[in-house]
Amino acid sequence: MFAKAVARVESLVKGTLFDCRMCGQCVLSQTGLVCPMTCPKGLRNGPCGGTLHGECEVHPDRPCVWVKIHHRTVGDQSLERPNLLPSCDASLQNTSSYLNLLSGADKVGRTPLEYLDLGNRRTTQPIQTQSKLEQRLKSGDFVKTCELRAPRGASMEKLIEQASHVQGHFDAVNATAYLNARPSLSSAVVAAKLAEMGIEAVCQSTCRDHTKTSFIAELLSNQLNGVNNTLCLTGDAYHGVPRIKQVFDMDGAIMLYEARHLREKGTIYFTGERVANAPRMFLGAAINPFTEPSNVPIRRLKQKADAGADFIQTQLIFDMQAFDQRFMSLVRQEGLHEELFILAGVPVVTSKKALEIMPRIPGAWVPEEALRRLAAASDCQAEGVQLARELVEQARQIPGIAGVHLMLFGPDHSVLPDVIESLESTSVQQPTTHFRADKSAEPTTL
Ligand code: SF4
Repeated sequence: MFAKAVARVESLVKGTLFDCRMCGQCVLSQTGLVCPMTCPKGLRNGPCGGTLHGECEVHPDRPCVWVKIHHRTVGDQSLERPNLLPSCDASLQNTSSYLNLLSGADKVGRTPLEYLDLGNRRTTQPIQTQSKLEQRLKSGDFVKTCELRAPRGASMEKLIEQASHVQGHFDAVNATAYLNARPSLSSAVVAAKLAEMGIEAVCQSTCRDHTKTSFIAELLSNQLNGVNNTLCLTGDAYHGVPRIKQVFDMDGAIMLYEARHLREKGTIYFTGERVANAPRMFLGAAINPFTEPSNVPIRRLKQKADAGADFIQTQLIFDMQAFDQRFMSLVRQEGLHEELFILAGVPVVTSKKALEIMPRIPGAWVPEEALRRLAAASDCQAEGVQLARELVEQARQIPGIAGVHLMLFGPDHSVLPDVIESLESTSVQQPTTHFRADKSAEPTTL
């Protein structure tokens, strides 16, 4: 009774002052008095990739909560690595954080996690997983990856046809799924199919759709199915009506931490349980290089690197010069390209219909000039391929870029090999090293 009365008063006072959502494990003192639970995705550690010009992806008329937190806590210049807060303890929701502070019930939820000791200059460390993508990246070759979308129906026919166009040309292929939170086959199922076809597959897992339990389950399935790469994403928002409930128990950094903990220690962090044949995924994350101010994506990158990411795929880039000046220069200054591999996201826009949706892609910065160029073309597909070729060549010249990730906006996957024609000399090779379960052992060369 007393606890409920205190919670009601706290809700009234803090609700009025801070728009408090009563998580019961208050971190306002760590977030510049901005409640992170007011982020529509409830993210606890930093912005999603949907923020652009300081606005929120879900509510473009409001500022991004996490950009505000960065601004209030460290300002627009600091590049210091942020803390990594654990997920909220769901049992404390709607209870008084004052009482929880006194009893110590909120200690875990408010105490930053200890980052794992992953060593330095990790891009030069010996091979650690069975991922062929890791082998390719560590070989020093300029890597190219692309993506295939999971079918919306229970048929793989079209996917197999699309896969046949990219097989043998790319070092890895991502299985994208649940675009805009709409149902499809899962990424894990499609990635398993690609692996079965002999394609190095990347499973994309989103915290929008996963509880911690189902995320670990997906990692286990991947391990079993020969899928050795997992990309940990927040997931874009569902804009349909009625609004559906989305999970967001983790953010991208916490997903990485759970997956890397499993890989390094063989135990599930959130349950403490040991796992037989624990998944040893090569782990990826995404970053939006055009989030402003420019210290925000760099700090988030540091956080994701130390939470366990091995490689990064960027949001799509139409202007490589701006990307280099705004983002990569800071990446190099901070030595982050030596901690993880950075793949530049290259758009391949091949239809006028796809062109129309470009400005609406969450977090994507699409310069007017690129839009005009593609809109004016009599052959949109040819122009889209040409633009992508130019972007690939420009990306290749940027120090610290390990490769490109092509994102097709159009129906015909057969154009993708054309985009990377000039890179074909760095052909997709068979693996040259064997992974050994004993991490202290050096990889052997065949
Ligand atoms: S842009 Fe993303 S991180 Fe920022 S407030 Fe909106 S949903 Fe949250």
